[in-house]
Amino acid sequence: MNPLPKSHPTAAGARRVSSGRYSGWRLFLEGLTGQRGWSRAWAKAAPRERYRVVIVGGGGHGLATAFYLATEYGITDVAVLEQGPIGLGNVGRNTTIIRSNYFHPDNIRFYEYSLKLWEGLERKLNFNAMVSQRGTLNLFHTEAQRDLFTRRANMMRLLGVDAEPLSREAVKERVPLVDLDNGRYPVLGGFLQRRGGTVRHDAVAWGYARAASEAGADIVEHCEVTGIARDGSRVTGVETTRGPIAADTVCLAVAGHSSRLAAMAGLALPIESHVLQAFVSEGVKPVLDVVLTYGAGHFYVSQSDKGGLVFGGAIDGYNSYGQRGTLPMAEEVAAAAMTLLPGLARLKVLRQWGGVMDMSMDGSPIISATPLEGLIVNGGWCYGGFKAIPAGGLATAHLIARHAPHPLAAHLGLERFAAGRTIDERGAGPFPYAH
Ligand SMILES: Cc1cc2nc3c(=O)[nH]c(=O)nc-3n(C[C@H](O)[C@H](O)[C@H](O)COP(=O)(O)OP(=O)(O)OC[C@H]3O[C@@H](n4cnc5c(N)ncnc54)[C@H](O)[C@@H]3O)c2cc1C
Repeated sequence: MNPLPKSHPTAAGARRVSSGRYSGWRLFLEGLTGQRGWSRAWAKAAPRERYRVVIVGGGGHGLATAFYLATEYGITDVAVLEQGPIGLGNVGRNTTIIRSNYFHPDNIRFYEYSLKLWEGLERKLNFNAMVSQRGTLNLFHTEAQRDLFTRRANMMRLLGVDAEPLSREAVKERVPLVDLDNGRYPVLGGFLQRRGGTVRHDAVAWGYARAASEAGADIVEHCEVTGIARDGSRVTGVETTRGPIAADTVCLAVAGHSSRLAAMAGLALPIESHVLQAFVSEGVKPVLDVVLTYGAGHFYVSQSDKGGLVFGGAIDGYNSYGQRGTLPMAEEVAAAAMTLLPGLARLKVLRQWGGVMDMSMDGSPIISATPLEGLIVNGGWCYGGFKAIPAGGLATAHLIARHAPHPLAAHLGLERFAAGRTIDERGAGPFPYAH
């Protein structure tokens, strides 16, 4: 295996320099030779006038779609158009949790498929994404909640997915910081998915960008899509800040901007944009080796490899494109944190940020063809689309290449809203802020 950079043909036929294979051996060699052999992880492509497939949005889903189009379906005449640099959207703003502990059987199968893809992803991409299957532990605080979680865990186990109940004592043993008998909502127990965990989020964007570029796709940064061209009911390309680009298929993978982009094509999506915040504390010694979620309020937490506690809560609950969030939700998250883990009171919060969530009407995502020929939508990920990136990208690539839904994503079509077949994961009704 040659660890050194070599060139690859692009879809346009031009030669492009590859960043070569990453390995411990190469690190060692580069250390000996002054680190002079590294090159850009992905080529900085300039847009061409025409592609077979244009993907709008260089987040996790857009990049993964390009990667799987090239590697699974042999389609390399692809451009990913990103308005900024790669990795600054939600893919680099989330709290990095992966899991497949869903309630609806179709969702369990889809997210479990994604979890399985995470398990082999670093080898496939040849990129260290720090996949850490440390487990996700959901706490419950009432008998009704115990019933609900039990039902969810039973459904998962019926489908061959790991889920196990933990007693109060086992919760305390696993997370000594937890105040089981806190005055507000005592902990009755929890459900653990051992294969859940975290993945370093921006490495996922970089890893897919590198691998997609290497496979032949053009990754075009600083190229904002400002319009969608139509010829009757057929989409024919996009207008961008770097000129018009024609395409046989345009795929929107713009997360919180889905409804705005679809409106450019004259399409109304059942999606609202909301803000979701996250927080990270100063670094401390290891105190938490699982992803922990509070069942009686808005709070979940894990500890990063640098030692900071990464935590968040629910969406702020109003429509926004702001990437900041407001103080009432920050206060609610802090109150819940103090209830469950009083020891955190002595930690300083270092950073806080927000991301724009594409909240669908039923809380489940959309991977779908649209009434407009040549327009595909990957969106509606709500606040759970990071874990879905491998399966979402693969299913979107399948839809583009085969003109038919991937069997594991067939339930995620847009037509479900008109037909009344919504997949209301939380049973919250048609209220995006409540999912
Ligand atoms: C605080 C927070 C915590 C979260 N925690 C989790 C979690 O723990 N687990 C989980 O599974 N999910 C989580 N999520 C949700 C998850 O991050 C998203 O669902 C997912 O990242 C969305 O898919 P994406 O990566 O493709 O989106 P993005 O990375 O947002 O990609 C969309 C891209 O489209 C680009 N774009 C938009 N408009 C245009 C345009 N006109 N032209 C060109 N490009 C455009 C944007 O710049 C952006 O880069 C969280 C989100 C937030 C904000």
